[in-house]
Amino acid sequence: MLTRVAEGVLVHESEFVQSNAVVVLGPAGVLLIDPGVTASELDCLVGDLADLGQAVVAGFSTHPHWDHVLWDARFGEAPRYGTARCAAAIRAELSDPDAKARIADHLLETEIAGQVPLDLLGLITGLPAGTTQVPWDGPRVRVIEHEAHAPGHAALLIEERGVLVAGDMLSDVLIPMFESDDTADPFDDYLAALLLFEGVAGDVEVVIPGHGSVGGSAELKTRIDQDRAYVHALRDGRDVDDPRVGPSAKPGWEWVSDVHEGQRERPARRSD
Ligand SMILES: [Zn+2]
Repeated sequence: MLTRVAEGVLVHESEFVQSNAVVVLGPAGVLLIDPGVTASELDCLVGDLADLGQAVVAGFSTHPHWDHVLWDARFGEAPRYGTARCAAAIRAELSDPDAKARIADHLLETEIAGQVPLDLLGLITGLPAGTTQVPWDGPRVRVIEHEAHAPGHAALLIEERGVLVAGDMLSDVLIPMFESDDTADPFDDYLAALLLFEGVAGDVEVVIPGHGSVGGSAELKTRIDQDRAYVHALRDGRDVDDPRVGPSAKPGWEWVSDVHEGQRERPARRSD
């Protein structure tokens, strides 16, 4: 089911980790961001778009983690964009012929084992480095690329709608999660990305996290502060006071505390 969150912006929420696919309406069709996750949910999204009489004219993946680079053949042949570094990262991963089998194995540990179509996973066209706007016929969508959470991660700001599509940050249920390459400082990278969000926050009325609840402008500021406090505490080796971990975690999200414990021991582990 698609839910309207702003003029011309709709969200399809998955039962899996509250993943949000985003639909942006344009004059000749829609921009589809991070579609997923299970086959039945993709069926639903295909049906909802057909009911709206909308074709997909462009896709975008916020970052190269498996749950953000899915696709369904019925969305058609539209270009599927990501940042250059996002496209390079998923291409490198898929150059290993066992990559999809490994993702399928990982999914065996979840409640959606065998339900995720991986055929069209990761076929991302990288936008030239430094691209500031998604090239499509529709409302202007600014690309805010940064180094937090995953290589080539980008948030998207749908400027005329006041909507920030955050990718895997600014969640009410997931803590900041880190994936470092050899050179990066994952904490500095994360804090820098939060500063970028703070810089546009005055233009944002709706924030859509990759996983979790859609929030308003006050909630955006709360989540920036919350993510920053978490990163500072982890960086400085202090205990965290964060509603997303420990006894205050929402029912069903207790595993986030395990992720936190893992990050406390080794902050730069792969986050997926
Ligand atoms: Zn991710």
